Formats: sequence, structure tokens, C-alpha cells
Amino acid sequence: MSNILAFIEVSTTGEIRGSAQMLLKAAADMGTPVAVVAVAPGTGAGLVEQLGSLGAQQVYVAETDAATTTVAAGQVAALEAAVAEFSPTAVLAAHSPDGREIAGRLAVRTKGALLVDAVGVKADGDRVVATHSVFGGAYTVEATVEGGLPIVTLRLGAIDGQAPAGSATAQTAQVTPDTSVAATIDSVNDETVTSTRPELRGAQKIVSGGRGLGSKENFVLVEQLADALGAAVGASRAAVDAGYVPHSYQVGQTGITVSPQLYIALGISGAIQHRAGMQTAKTIVAINKDEDSPIFEIADFGIVGDVFEVVPKVIEAIEARGK
Ligand code: FAD
Repeated sequence: MSNILAFIEVSTTGEIRGSAQMLLKAAADMGTPVAVVAVAPGTGAGLVEQLGSLGAQQVYVAETDAATTTVAAGQVAALEAAVAEFSPTAVLAAHSPDGREIAGRLAVRTKGALLVDAVGVKADGDRVVATHSVFGGAYTVEATVEGGLPIVTLRLGAIDGQAPAGSATAQTAQVTPDTSVAATIDSVNDETVTSTRPELRGAQKIVSGGRGLGSKENFVLVEQLADALGAAVGASRAAVDAGYVPHSYQVGQTGITVSPQLYIALGISGAIQHRAGMQTAKTIVAINKDEDSPIFEIADFGIVGDVFEVVPKVIEAIEARGK
């Protein structure tokens, strides 16, 4: 089977990011999954077992000081070295800010071809075919490349399941990128997250609220339903602009793109810019008092009603089930 490289992002504190599972699953479905990590020298040993349990058959540990001191230079050099080592038929990365940066640069270095924001990817004979949700989710299209190494960024949450766990073999290499023109990282300030809720990006369940909530105080209802379901909280731009929640909650064209198993939209009309960020959710539930709201066009389940009447009953029912 052909090698498929999965670029695994590692946090500043050395943890594997949540996108690893999705990338290794997609890679395992296409060929032999090879995880590639770029780490500071001597810090990668603990990652190999974890990546094996997520389905990696091999782990290429590229050690470089640049992994933590420059923007992307170490990671791109790690992937470039892995491409030379494994001659893969495709490289997969997360469609995250870092993943996009790294994938774009790798495409230039390898004269490869970039397929971005894919919601699915498969091997079709010799070709790699990526699926994209475009024009605000109105169309699903397939794309392939005619020449060069296919480098695919995958939307977070787009691929379900997990590759079979195993024990990965590790290969460690020292990588020395040219950092003369790289942007350097002077310092990193970790934001302290006090929430016990899942992170919006990559969450399996999301409850989002819109202008229909009416006020910041009322937005608590969205959080209550999210907590009853163990879901992340999102919002429409109108809710963000009205000051109900910070911009980091915004789902849509100019916010975060999500692809959860379950997306519940409360008091959200379903403007195309909002749909662009959530239309690939596997199951969409909408509660809106206007039966003509466009959100119902894409909802799998819809309730026409007032969120302040319906949602407390839904929470009550969920809690009763849990008891
Ligand atoms: P509204 O459209 O005002 O809808 C509120 C809904 O709540 C209505 O359907 C109403 O029937 C319902 N409602 C009211 N009261 C209740 C109640 N008590 N119970 C139940 N239902 C109730 N938007 C985004 O979300 N994300 C983006 O990233 C984004 N990017 C944009 C980029 C550009 C360039 C532009 C031009 C716009 C962008 N927008 C984005 C804005 C988008 O066009 C909409 O204005 C926005 O999504 C509307 O948010 P909303 O659905 O919460 O508000």
C-alpha cells in the first residue's frame, strides 16, 4: 500500500492536537498512515505510542529547534524531509491556521498541488479525490490533481471514526531548516481556558444561538442546553455583534467552520454566511419561531416555536433521560 503522510500538530506544551485522529483515519482509509511531527530535540518520544493508538503505522519524528522558535519553518522542513523519505501519494494536514500555512508552503517547496478545506478525501485508483462543500454549502464538489503531490487540508471534524490502534514504529531525524527568512517566535502567551465545555473547533456537538435570543442574559439558555448535551457553544455573527458572546464563538464565513455530528441552531435565521460554516454538520436541528426561516431548508429536524418555551422543555427531557 502507498504511504499517506498525516501532519500532526503539536501544541506549545507538547500535546498532540485533536485533529490527529481525523487525519490518521483518513490516511488509514487511503493507504499506510505515516504520522509526521516536528518537535524540539528530545521531546518526541512520548508521542509515538499515542500516535500508534490513533492508528499511525509509522511515526516520523523530525527534531528541530525551529519547531518552537519559528513560524512554520520547522514543520515545513519536517514534512519536506518526510516526503523525500516516504515518497507518499498524498499529504494530509488539518485545515487549521497552522495546517493551512504549512500545507501551502509545502506545496511550493515540492511543486505539489493543494486541495484545501476538504470535507472528505479518498484514493481512487492512482488519483486522490477530495470532496469540498462550496458556495456556502450549496454544492458538494469533488476535486483531484493532474500532476504533483496532492496536499490536502481537511476541515476539522469532517472525518468520523478512528483508525485501528496499533504500535507504531518510530523514525527520528534531525532537520535543519533555513531560518534566515523565517518569522521568529519571541514569546507565546497561553490563554487560560476556564470552560469545561469542548472547544468549538472540532467539537462533536454544538449548540449555537442567534439574534433570536434577544440579549446577553438570555444567551445563558444556549449554554444550558449545551451543558445538558456536553456540547460546545457557538453563535451567529448577529449574536456576536450584539455583544452576547465574544467573536471566538462565531460560526460562519467570517468565523469558524465546523462539521460536528450534531448542530443545534437556536434563534438563527440561517443566512448563507452562517450556513457556510456549519452546513456540513451530520445532523442539523433548528428551533425558530418563523416557519419560513431559511435554516429550516437545511435542518434535519426543525421545531417552529419560541426558544424560551421549547428549549427549557428540551433540557428537562434530556436531564430526565440522564437520571
Ligand atoms: P437574524 O437573521 O436576525 O435571525 C434571527 C432569527 O431568530 C430569526 O429567524 C427569527 O425568526 C428568530 N427568532 C427571534 N426570536 C425568536 C424566539 N424567541 N424563538 C425562536 N426564534 C426566534 N453571519 C454568521 O452567522 N457568521 C458569519 O461568519 C457571517 N459572516 C458574514 C460575512 C459577510 C461578508 C456578511 C455580509 C455577513 C456575514 N454574516 C455572518 C451575517 C449574516 O448575513 C446574518 O446577518 C447573520 O447570520 C444573522 O444572524 P442571526 O440568524 O442570528 O440573526
